[in-house]
Amino acid sequence: MAKTILVSSEGKYGIEAGVEVLRGGAARLDVIEAAIRPVEIAPECRSVGLGGWPNLTGAAELDASIMDGRTLHSGSVGALSGFRHPISVARQVMERLPHVLLVGAGAARFATEIGAEPGPTDDQAAAVALARQGWETWLTAHVPAEVRADWPDVPLIEWARQSADPETAHGTTIALVKDAAGEIGCGVSTCGWAYKYPGRLGDSPIIGAGVYADSRYGAAGCTGMGELTIRTGTARAVVLYMKMGLSVEAACREALADLRAAERRFKGGVTIHAIDAAGQPCVLSVGRFTDTVRWYFWTEGMPAFEERQTLVAGW
Ligand code: ASP
Repeated sequence: MAKTILVSSEGKYGIEAGVEVLRGGAARLDVIEAAIRPVEIAPECRSVGLGGWPNLTGAAELDASIMDGRTLHSGSVGALSGFRHPISVARQVMERLPHVLLVGAGAARFATEIGAEPGPTDDQAAAVALARQGWETWLTAHVPAEVRADWPDVPLIEWARQSADPETAHGTTIALVKDAAGEIGCGVSTCGWAYKYPGRLGDSPIIGAGVYADSRYGAAGCTGMGELTIRTGTARAVVLYMKMGLSVEAACREALADLRAAERRFKGGVTIHAIDAAGQPCVLSVGRFTDTVRWYFWTEGMPAFEERQTLVAGW
């Protein structure tokens, strides 16, 4: 059973730590946490953690989830504010509650109860300041001064329609892992769509949309326009297509055909990341930014992890 790890573009800040613990024999969920936690606090990472893009009101609301492909147990947090490592809180939801998904105030309450590290901490201050600056610049450019005077106590619907992502701001960290026992897991973490409406959840905390793992067939995780992958259940679809006998690449392309069938309101894209039960990878992008999408991969036998370029498809 070859140990394997695949991470998305943003995962470059955590792949080294992930490979190290995987090489050392750690189990899938530990490897996922090890690979995602550094991304959540990487000062250079603009789309994950408390230094990521805030919502329309300037508050960071983070989404994360984790799924164990052996048991199909999973845990998620949505719109979580004030904590340094959403991926670890998501894992604890899975392990300590009879629930799968906690959001907002309830998620924060739970994080406090389990003693999760609050944030932002000093090492995140520069990233938070940068994110704040970006938000203020966006606000000044898009919202007239007389409306800004009362911000955020104004109707926000109109402004959500003009918010940045998926036109310009995007990204999620994903880790797909096959461990020494041959079991597979998937974890994701993101700040979601920049300047989103407060309370908006993307696909990252939705099991089956942005994340899915089943050790018998494989795992998948999505970045990009979460509104679209929620509607077509993309991550679950990829795994199901593999169950039906398709190769990992054919399964990604079939899930892409499902995405194409859905009417789109934005020009944004989607990247599907997947491994099959043997750990064979495929990363397939559609829409904008496809030329910048990279992914990182290591499997036993490779001396070091490699940066690879996504397969590109058109809408
Ligand atoms: N999928 C994420 C979301 O919709 C964002 C992204 O990966 O670009 O929240």
